[in-house]
Amino acid sequence: MSFNTLGLSEKVLAAVDAAGYKDPTAIQAGAIPQVLERRDVLGIAQTGTGKTASFTLPMLTLLEKGRARARMPRTLILEPTRELAAQVEENFEKYGTNHKLNVALLIGGVSFADQDKKLDRGTDVLIATPGRLLDHFERGKLLLQGVEILVIDEADRMLDMGFIPDIERICKLIPFTRQTLFFSATMPPEIQRLTETFLQNPARIEVAPTSSTSENVAQRLKASASKDYDKRATLRELLEDAEDLKNAIVFCNRKRDVSTLFRSLERHEYNVGALHGDMDQRTRMMMLENFRKGNIKLLVASDVAARGLDIPEVSHVFNYDIPINAEDYVHRIGRTGRAGRSGTAYTLVTDSDQKYLKAIEELTKQSIDWIGESIDFEAAAKERKAKRRTSKTSKTASSNDNEAAEAKPAKKRGQSRRRNETSSAEEAVEVKPSTAGVSTISQKSTSKKSRSDKSAPAFSEGVHIPAFLLREPRPKKAS
Ligand code: AMP
Repeated sequence: MSFNTLGLSEKVLAAVDAAGYKDPTAIQAGAIPQVLERRDVLGIAQTGTGKTASFTLPMLTLLEKGRARARMPRTLILEPTRELAAQVEENFEKYGTNHKLNVALLIGGVSFADQDKKLDRGTDVLIATPGRLLDHFERGKLLLQGVEILVIDEADRMLDMGFIPDIERICKLIPFTRQTLFFSATMPPEIQRLTETFLQNPARIEVAPTSSTSENVAQRLKASASKDYDKRATLRELLEDAEDLKNAIVFCNRKRDVSTLFRSLERHEYNVGALHGDMDQRTRMMMLENFRKGNIKLLVASDVAARGLDIPEVSHVFNYDIPINAEDYVHRIGRTGRAGRSGTAYTLVTDSDQKYLKAIEELTKQSIDWIGESIDFEAAAKERKAKRRTSKTSKTASSNDNEAAEAKPAKKRGQSRRRNETSSAEEAVEVKPSTAGVSTISQKSTSKKSRSDKSAPAFSEGVHIPAFLLREPRPKKAS
């Protein structure tokens, strides 16, 4: 099928030609004619499928008729993150080179005054994150009665981020007669309900389910010991050995691990940047821009920050942590091997990651090859069990040796045991200061504490320790 048969205007076809696209992707072929017929569309597709052009191209065609009025945008596109919103704006710039349309971006972290000026000039396309849009609306700077087309993009991501109430509110502020284009990679019940409430007889277009990984991406697993120190060493080994590594995104499951790994790679003199949800907007944009331009070679990122990013030239993806949600694996490795290029994705696996690996292999219906030795999960589980048994036995033995223990150290022991449990469950845990005076302890001080506690007097088996003595002190209520 060619783009010429879809009903797009001459101006849009010229821009598509200039972009170098030969054929429409499945979501484009399915959605574009429906949008041009002014039907509501329910597109089930993820990023990387050409989803953005499936709504921007027909919107540009439809916007050729009519004019914008001050503070009354003609179309509205809602995106879950600032990065995605900025990316959609870039798409309008790219495909709209032959149009004279006003495109405004309303995202957090940018001054209201500049955004207000743009709205006053009249906006053909308004691209916004839900929170910032509502802020403008509440300040009376924005009227939504003129919106003819509403696009809700990445709806399942909006759900993850808690934006659904905002979306519902916005939908109710826009005339019922609008055309709605709704995109989501998955259709959990909450999203299904939303489509039933806000779409009218939509054309449903579903492409490649989220479970499919691109054939262009070579996937490999690498066994690693579970301590962060060892994992970082394994990662560096992979980075050194990776063939044709031009640039890479390194994914961590937690924000604070993004920072730690970033600092470690920096110390080892890698050309590295970081991207996570707590960074301010300017820094995030700067990081991305530098990564796109090749000034930064490695980008350490969390899932929220990286979801949907379109960086066409990524050669490698490294999962420093195996993702807890199998679907995130598909999204992560989808950052490489885009637009027909080839890519490589490595995943570090520790001996307690079996269930996550199993879920990924089940979802993607494939078995991923290991580099070097694989992990014998059964044997590792047995070893862990045996270790636990030994440590229990030695604890009982040591408590039998301390018959003369008193109540005061018992309280201490109860507290320190809690700390030890926490530190083994989640190594880098931080205990925040509480009003009860429990001070902040970092990973280092936690382990120090646990070492010193080993020598603390313990109780004999027969001594009853009241449960309240084992509890952490409760924080005092603020008066
Ligand atoms: P998206 O799913 O919108 O994030 O797009 C993924 C990538 O595919 C982007 O880099 C687009 O520029 C590219 N793309 C979109 N449509 C086409 C097409 N018809 N042919 C080739 N590449 C495309």
